[in-house]
Amino acid sequence: MDFEFSDKSKRIQAQLKAFIAEHVAPRNAEYQRLVAQGVFPPPFLDDLKAKARAQGLWNLFLPGLKPDEPGTQMSNLDYAPCAEIMGRMLWSAEVLNCNAPDTGNMELLHLAANPQQRKQWLQPLLEGKIRSAFAMTEPDVASSDATNIRTSIRRDGKQWVINGRKWFITNAADPRCKIFIVMGQTSPDRAEAHRRQSMVLVPAGTRGLTVVRNLPVMNHIHVQGHCEVAFDDVRVPVDHLLGEEGGGFALAQARLGPGRIHHCMRSIGACELAVELMIARARSRKTFGAALAEHGTVREWIALSRIEIEQARLLVLKAAWLIDQGGAKAARREIALIKVAVPRMQVAVANRAIQVFGAAGLTQDTPLADIWSWGRALQIVDGPDEVHIRAIARGEIKAPEGAT
Ligand SMILES: Cc1cc2nc3c(=O)[nH]c(=O)nc-3n(C[C@H](O)[C@H](O)[C@H](O)COP(=O)(O)OP(=O)(O)OC[C@H]3O[C@@H](n4cnc5c(N)ncnc54)[C@H](O)[C@@H]3O)c2cc1C
Repeated sequence: MDFEFSDKSKRIQAQLKAFIAEHVAPRNAEYQRLVAQGVFPPPFLDDLKAKARAQGLWNLFLPGLKPDEPGTQMSNLDYAPCAEIMGRMLWSAEVLNCNAPDTGNMELLHLAANPQQRKQWLQPLLEGKIRSAFAMTEPDVASSDATNIRTSIRRDGKQWVINGRKWFITNAADPRCKIFIVMGQTSPDRAEAHRRQSMVLVPAGTRGLTVVRNLPVMNHIHVQGHCEVAFDDVRVPVDHLLGEEGGGFALAQARLGPGRIHHCMRSIGACELAVELMIARARSRKTFGAALAEHGTVREWIALSRIEIEQARLLVLKAAWLIDQGGAKAARREIALIKVAVPRMQVAVANRAIQVFGAAGLTQDTPLADIWSWGRALQIVDGPDEVHIRAIARGEIKAPEGAT
């Protein structure tokens, strides 16, 4: 295993740090204020995106980026430290067109879209002109098992007719969201449960598609939305099918690999920030005649956080390296390992940092409460921990070939 970053990655990392310091960080307070007022996207976002793109700091997440597509192509391993930098200020990811769920959706379209679909949806997404949503989870069934998905996608002549209800659909409240990738059942009676689902592309604004409400996550409304969305007799032409009929389950699996790893990479950056803040606070405040940093408990929290971050980073880099070597399938075990390990680590590190800050740690005066609550959400986003734990255990327990 070789985790040495290429010269290109080192150059991009340096450029990215400088760009965020010069252009993004000075806008952070204004961004937070506008977003809290419900102004989204903030008016300066397009200007920042244009600046980033002009520097090549664009679409860094897509190893399969083609020479005629905008941005800079990087391997997963080379991208990891860049995503880590973005994780320190999450909204910076969109400035670089590297934000979820558009990244996963672009990957999916890259993989499965036909030439017309690429032109109509992938190209504007790669250009950062539109946003997208991925609609799989349903309120009425346990969606961590994708074979449960019930939304009906029925063929009627030259159209698909879609009926169902989805929720937690990220980006659905963003006025720039122009396309929904919808998963549902096209062949409910088929014997193989994994071949019953397909994905169709539904343009925003299609009759019968209603964004019902934006659900708060950990009591916090995210402006781009994690929304409940209703599909009532929504009709799209048959050529809006993504990939092959019955291929929805396989596409969903393919989409989640890189998406999970990007979340984990950003989490490492968020945790580094939490530790930096924790140390600065521990040095600057005194109780009982000593700086907090002199108290054994606080020193242990700092040390434990360092141990956990380093462990998590190495595992994330291993997963990234394995994907580069043999694709997401080759890294299946490591992707499951980090999906469980990293959000837990994020919650633990942020929790210690909050404690060191006292009551201030619970407020919006620091990013710690957001880091903590997002870490908690990540234990469910893209599939709950237990599903990954189940897969890990199954792999461990499986008898070696020829043993029985
Ligand atoms: C912030 C956020 C954004 C999201 N964005 C999207 C999006 O854009 N598009 C989308 O389609 N979905 C999205 N989701 C939904 C997410 O993918 C689902 O919530 C997740 O897959 C779990 O499905 P569920 O909520 O139906 O939980 P359920 O399937 O009902 O599971 C409930 C619980 O059952 C337990 N469980 C499940 N399986 C096992 C097992 N084998 N062993 C033991 N326990 C088990 C777990 O503890 C799990 O938490 C988002 C969720 C969040 C929180």
